[in-house]
Amino acid sequence: MTDTEDLVRRNAEFADQRFAPDLRINPSGNMMIVGCVDPRVDPAQVLGVRHGEAAVIRNVGGRMTPATLRTMAMLGKVGQANADGRCPGTWNLVILHHTNCGMTDLAPFPELLAEYFEIPAAELGEKSVSDPRGSVRVDVGVILGVLHADDFLVSGLVYDVTTGRVETVVPETPLR
Ligand SMILES: [Zn+2]
Repeated sequence: MTDTEDLVRRNAEFADQRFAPDLRINPSGNMMIVGCVDPRVDPAQVLGVRHGEAAVIRNVGGRMTPATLRTMAMLGKVGQANADGRCPGTWNLVILHHTNCGMTDLAPFPELLAEYFEIPAAELGEKSVSDPRGSVRVDVGVILGVLHADDFLVSGLVYDVTTGRVETVVPETPLR
């Protein structure tokens, strides 16, 4: 087990050596990433996302659930409240799914998945929980269906936990 004292020690090193006091609440990369909680798929590690560059939402599977959409709506309000520090330009929403996702292990629990997606269990097939290429397409589709903005792109990536490489399944697509 990694103990908390060790984390506090690591933090002291961070505060001494890498802390950047000028970071803003608005992501410097105009980027939001939705990804899985799996410890292997930390966007800072696998995509090289820098400190302060992106807002990152992580949940089981990196899925665009109603809860994710509610979180995004709240973040939109936070962005508006801090509009003075906003970087001008287009936003990039990146959905990052991955192979060997634990979501697959939830297939025997359709009632949990149905609750997660807030849909009837009979419609779970549409969520492609066992195929990351399918699921990232589904979730890009969810965003395209609900979010309409001139200055927003969405893309879908799948990270392969056996090679460390991402595949662009859905290239940057404008929201309209
Ligand atoms: Zn996962």
